Amino acid sequence: MNRVVKRLIESSIFLLVCTLGFHAKADWYVGDRGIMGTNIHTEIWADNQQQGQQAIELVMNEMERINQLMSPYIPQSELSQLNARAAKEAVSISSELYDLIKLSTGISEETEGAFDITFASVGFLYNYREQIKPSTQQIDNLLAAVSYRHIQFEKDSKRISFANDKVKIDLGGIAKGHAVDNAIALLRQMGIEHALVTAGGDTGLLGDRRGRPWMVGIRDPRNRDRQAVVLPLVDTAMSTSGDYERFFEDNGERYHHILSPKSGKSVSEVQSVTIVGPRSTFNDALSTAVFVLGVKKGINLVNRTPGYDVIIMDNQRKLHYSKDLDL
Ligand code: ADP
Ligand code: MG
Repeated sequence: MNRVVKRLIESSIFLLVCTLGFHAKADWYVGDRGIMGTNIHTEIWADNQQQGQQAIELVMNEMERINQLMSPYIPQSELSQLNARAAKEAVSISSELYDLIKLSTGISEETEGAFDITFASVGFLYNYREQIKPSTQQIDNLLAAVSYRHIQFEKDSKRISFANDKVKIDLGGIAKGHAVDNAIALLRQMGIEHALVTAGGDTGLLGDRRGRPWMVGIRDPRNRDRQAVVLPLVDTAMSTSGDYERFFEDNGERYHHILSPKSGKSVSEVQSVTIVGPRSTFNDALSTAVFVLGVKKGINLVNRTPGYDVIIMDNQRKLHYSKDLDL
């Protein structure tokens, strides 16, 4: 009898501790997960732990959903299926993928082709982890397949075809930005008012950090542990493209993951490009485009784009700013 009572008391104490341990108060809830080949980091102000956990899961599930849809490394992804079939027939795809590809070609037109998702026609031959790059002959053979003009759209049926079987697309320069925009929209819908969502170099911000701005850093391209610039930001988004994310060196040359659609090779005029603007999808694509365009053309492009700003670090480590930041 005594033992039963003791057990009962023990288990009630245990339950009480559990309940107290379960945050019933508003707080910051933080989540990190490896998805889309990068670290997804989120910080969310929520009313209680349950809401905080739910919000973190919402963000991570959205990232995973887009990864399954758009990863070139997953053979069943819609993107891989499109790449495998679109030279033979018009392929029917989801409106989400169709719209993002259409948007990408629109950005190609506005960036003199510097942003071009068909870079992958050559780009698929690079493997940065294994230090593999295409030969000059391979590049020459495939370079003509790099052009967004090779993508044909059938608007009503949401079907896409490619001009020939050398054409491939890759959304690595825009999909993470799209995912961040989606995640922020989902958090807003569930009533969250303060949040940060980062996917690799792409960050989206919902509101402020409760009375203070978010402080978002631009990493020093040559020192992982240093920030080159820190910006106070509220209710906006920011993306950085750098030559340090995926690269290898060979014979003193740096081969990295941002390719010029004109040469099929990586570009070296700048080390990093940061775009600040309201839509993460655009920030992501624009940061890649400006990286390819270089300082002068890149700053001109951003100066013509209302609501968007740029900070460039060139290969001499000098910083350049678009007109609204150049105070
Ligand atoms: P990340 O955030 O992954 O560092 P970036 O925004 O810097 O990405 O974009 C680099 C990625 O964009 C590359 O890994 C590749 O998938 C894709 N990419 C590379 N060159 C181009 C280009 N000229 N146009 C469009 N996408 C590109
Ligand atoms: Mg980008």
